[in-house]
Amino acid sequence: MTNIMHKPIISVICLSLSFMAAMPATMAQSKDQPAKQAFGTIRDASLTQQPQSVGFYSKGCLDGAVALPIDGPNWQVMRLSRNRNWGHPRLINLLGDLSSKAAKTGWNGLMVGDISQPRGGPMLTGHASHQVGLDADIWLTPMPNKRLSYREREDLSAISMLKKNSLYVDQKKWTPSHTALIKHAATYPDVERIFVHPGIKKQLCETVTGNRDWLGKVRPYWGHHYHFHIRLTCQPGSPNCKPQDKVAKGDGCDKSLDWWFTDEPWKPAKPGKPAPKPKPVMVSDLPKYCSTVLTAPAAD
Ligand SMILES: [Zn+2]
Repeated sequence: MTNIMHKPIISVICLSLSFMAAMPATMAQSKDQPAKQAFGTIRDASLTQQPQSVGFYSKGCLDGAVALPIDGPNWQVMRLSRNRNWGHPRLINLLGDLSSKAAKTGWNGLMVGDISQPRGGPMLTGHASHQVGLDADIWLTPMPNKRLSYREREDLSAISMLKKNSLYVDQKKWTPSHTALIKHAATYPDVERIFVHPGIKKQLCETVTGNRDWLGKVRPYWGHHYHFHIRLTCQPGSPNCKPQDKVAKGDGCDKSLDWWFTDEPWKPAKPGKPAPKPKPVMVSDLPKYCSTVLTAPAAD
């Protein structure tokens, strides 16, 4: 009698448990969607034992992100509405450390731009990279002496370091503490690359004396004259993080830099048929583990 009574109850519990366990995977499969929509609208980080970057800087996601507090002793986060002050714990830690080093060499604190979204991934606007929590944009404008309001953090503009309509740094704007800030950043062993405008790279090539080993990590790239971009290597505990090739030996103040001062990199796109619109990147196009990251419970 007791047996007969209990059996159906047990099987109902088992059924509902197995149904619940299967649900997230089923939902993720059946509801494939554009990745920037899925990752661009999620407001909290995923709960995990082991934070990890998944995939590549421009095609991946981030499990167990932590947020950089919007105010620190030597930094302020800008553009709060974007909710992109999330990163791998190592990057968040490094930014705090960098801000105090920079403050000691005359930089009045960091204005921090985009890092990553709460679970990384592609964004609804801007950036191809910044997807795995290992990229951060730092303004080339030092922090003001006051705490900025929410509105000011939305509206305030960074300042270009270039002379108007030129590829060269404006000597009235560039200071030794700009150089010191970039040097501090490049000196961390796990900072792999720093992106700056070619004019800024040239400025460093022509002015840095003494140890120039760190200059090789500073890479010329389009844009990046209002801010520079710090990129960390894949961190321990991220088996699915796809590394990038190491930068070549040397200071990079060579022919590869000269190319940026030719017409070629700045030629407008050829007129004619516009390129076909690329297919949207779907969640299923990202590394498999990113679907798990997307459906994981939120960390408090
Ligand atoms: Zn960037």
